[in-house]
Amino acid sequence: MAWLGHSILQFVKQRHFKIGKRLLSTIALTLFLTLSVGIPSVAAGDWSGESNPGAYRFNVGTFKVATISDGLLKVPPLPIYAPIADPEDVKRAMIERFWSADELFLYFNALYIDTGAHKVLIDTGAGVELGAGLAKLTRNLRSVGVQPQDIDTVILTHAHPDHIGGIVATDGRLTFPNAKYYISDAEWQFWTAPTIDLSSLKIPDPFKQGIIAAARKHLGAIGNQINRFQPDQEIIPGITSIAAAGHTPGQAAFRITSDQTQLIVTADVFFNEALDLEHPEWQTGFDFNPQQAAATRRRLLQQIVADRTMVIAYHMPFPALGHVRSQGDHYQWEPVQWEFTP
Ligand SMILES: [Zn+2]
Repeated sequence: MAWLGHSILQFVKQRHFKIGKRLLSTIALTLFLTLSVGIPSVAAGDWSGESNPGAYRFNVGTFKVATISDGLLKVPPLPIYAPIADPEDVKRAMIERFWSADELFLYFNALYIDTGAHKVLIDTGAGVELGAGLAKLTRNLRSVGVQPQDIDTVILTHAHPDHIGGIVATDGRLTFPNAKYYISDAEWQFWTAPTIDLSSLKIPDPFKQGIIAAARKHLGAIGNQINRFQPDQEIIPGITSIAAAGHTPGQAAFRITSDQTQLIVTADVFFNEALDLEHPEWQTGFDFNPQQAAATRRRLLQQIVADRTMVIAYHMPFPALGHVRSQGDHYQWEPVQWEFTP
């Protein structure tokens, strides 16, 4: 939270707005609330707060699996989430979905897998550093009867703060103290190098500094427990990596397989339906190599469409499970039917 709030303030200052300090603080605070907390649409004290579930149990073959929400971030879509698109096209795409044109909902969904031999978490959520609407992962994990110390395997898709920010808890200790950590070799090499060059990202410099600081902090804390994998490597029985570079230099997707059933973990290959499924050529400002990210998006989506495999996509609406179909040169999301016991 701190770095993002600070980053936005710095961003406003850098634009050399000739305004008083007090007004500057107000603007920064408003931006900060809008970006990272989301202004509640209803007054406090009503029933919106904690009443909705944050964990969704299902099975993949014999594996017991659950989507575990870390929370929701409401962000302006422009310019960061479609930096090369015509703003009017972005507005239209949002409104066609009956969404507010100014507010993109970014859901944060980790995946818990009990393979029988291992209790696995894929990605750790954002921790407390990206806003008060997040850091719900451990609470929601407990709601399905799993304690953080039960997790023996943490597999990371990539090292952006919204995926690794839960590694170190607020008290400085590891949130999952008994876990071995796994990350792709390319991703580890990039983020632990003496110099990290994020000049290709279309985001303000303070955001880049925040991303680098988060990588140094959270990856730095697990240096002794880290295991690196290559594309197409079986990490533990039933979980295999899939190359998905572009968004970051070593991003990985995963194939979960049990008893002839599969689930693909798509990481940040796509973020939402209106922008990058409808317009897979659009980028996000967070893409390290936008051309490679777009090529990866098409390659993985084509495979998913052809195989009719169910996917979990980190930033899609909870529980983030669905299928993808193609129509012409774009894609559509079909959420799974929510199976529940009322
Ligand atoms: Zn992400």
